[in-house]
Amino acid sequence: VDLDTRSIDPSQIVDRRGGRGGMPRGGLALGGGGLGVLGVIAMLVLNVLGGGGGSGYDVNPRSNGFPSSASGRGDAPLRGGSTDNETRFVTEVVNLVQSSWDTQFREAGRTYQPTELVLFTAQTRSGCGIASASTGPFYCPADRRVYLDLSFFSQLRSRLGAPGDFAQAYVIAHEFGHHVQTLLGIDSQVRRAQEERPSQRNELSVRLELQADCFAGVWAHSAFEEGRLESGDLEEGLAAAAAVGDDRLQRQATGYVDPESFTHGTSQQRQEWFNTGYQSGSPNSCDTFGGND
Ligand SMILES: [Zn+2]
Repeated sequence: VDLDTRSIDPSQIVDRRGGRGGMPRGGLALGGGGLGVLGVIAMLVLNVLGGGGGSGYDVNPRSNGFPSSASGRGDAPLRGGSTDNETRFVTEVVNLVQSSWDTQFREAGRTYQPTELVLFTAQTRSGCGIASASTGPFYCPADRRVYLDLSFFSQLRSRLGAPGDFAQAYVIAHEFGHHVQTLLGIDSQVRRAQEERPSQRNELSVRLELQADCFAGVWAHSAFEEGRLESGDLEEGLAAAAAVGDDRLQRQATGYVDPESFTHGTSQQRQEWFNTGYQSGSPNSCDTFGGND
């Protein structure tokens, strides 16, 4: 992505790294110490086998949300002078994604409500319970915030095989896609449908996740139109969408694939919907709930 480093708006980022407002280390079984490859694979197995979604929406499958109860301290605003390159990158992508949705909403006669991305290390509290680095990036509808531990990006690069700045941008855009779903009331409709039809819980989750992928593609289209896409960016985004497909993650973790337990869609579906959004540039193309539902 070609970013404009002059126009950074740090107000959309909350920085809880370095212990500020975070949880004490070691408070949760999986917190602190680093998981290692085997730990991550074990988590993936648990997550994949755990089935349905939790109370927040992530980019990669995991199990039933977070352990409850946490007391958090105050949030520190991002200090413009102390930002490293990775933080600047995240901030600028967040700014761009939200600016793009602001335009989309205005064109549709609606008002986009910007939200914040919370940067944390190891673990932190959220409106959906305690988040830990092992759960990966996620969106919490209860407090309407995106949560991200930057260590996920090195997992994405090395363990999930999706390198590149646009792979990271895709992850961020996917999470803000969930925010868009919340603002449009799609999220609450899906939750209601899941309660009414528990047998379709996973299928509805897949449709919701694929729509967030499509919304990420809609943003990628606007980044292209603004001349921000560099050679290889689209491929990086597509590779990242495939890297977090249920089938690929299950095969990596267990050696076999159980479609009934899918919560996010296959690698192919995720690529296709990201590409649908990218090609059209319109959220109206993201009707993942059409078809036989
Ligand atoms: Zn998601």
